[in-house]
Amino acid sequence: MIFREFLSQISDAFFPRICLACSCVLPTGRPEFFCADCFCRITFLDGSLCPVCGVTFPDSSAGNHLCGSCMEHPHWFDFARAAVAYEGIILDAIHRFKYGRDLTAGAALAGLLADFDFAGIDFSAFDAMIPVPLHIRRLRERRFNQSLVLARALGKKHGVAVDFSLLKRRRFTLTQTGLNKSQRDKNISGAFAANHPDKIRGGSFLLVDDVYTTGATLNECAKTLVEAGAKRVAAMTAARVL
Ligand SMILES: [Zn+2]
Ligand SMILES: [Zn+2]
Repeated sequence: MIFREFLSQISDAFFPRICLACSCVLPTGRPEFFCADCFCRITFLDGSLCPVCGVTFPDSSAGNHLCGSCMEHPHWFDFARAAVAYEGIILDAIHRFKYGRDLTAGAALAGLLADFDFAGIDFSAFDAMIPVPLHIRRLRERRFNQSLVLARALGKKHGVAVDFSLLKRRRFTLTQTGLNKSQRDKNISGAFAANHPDKIRGGSFLLVDDVYTTGATLNECAKTLVEAGAKRVAAMTAARVL
């Protein structure tokens, strides 16, 4: 047994790790955050989907195809993908991470995002990952940017640099919660500004955020980057509203 394993077993004996969702004690020496029963309740988004916004079609045998919403409203990003559905224990974990500063929940979400098999996505095509920025006022309130934590885990896993200097939030916006699609688009319009256009021009970027709801925030970030000269922008989130 290597020393690190020994230390981990000692620590597990004194401070047993518990399942994030049901608080049962987890088996020692394993890196999981959820027990097997709770893990089974997570919906991984690996079925047929819309190749642009990533909405899944669980009961469709038609394979990947453009959804009605993407046909009507084109996006500024090439595609958006998410690892898991925003529901149940995942919704709870995201709330605990963002609003309760629960770093264990953050580590669990970062792991789900980084370890997910995004079939057909070539990470080497991106020059940098860009976390969706928070306004300085929100950052002071929350003390961390949840998207940066997720981007760092995803970037480390796939060998892509994270650059949080390229995009900033220039306007404080009220929460998007409770707004419909057109209200969200209006609320977020003009909220971001591009920095270092010399680094953006001609580049390919992957935006990273915690949740894809209507795509309004990611779309506005992508628009800002494309207007600053980015060649290609895509987006990835830990979870997605279905
Ligand atoms: Zn559990
Ligand atoms: Zn779509």
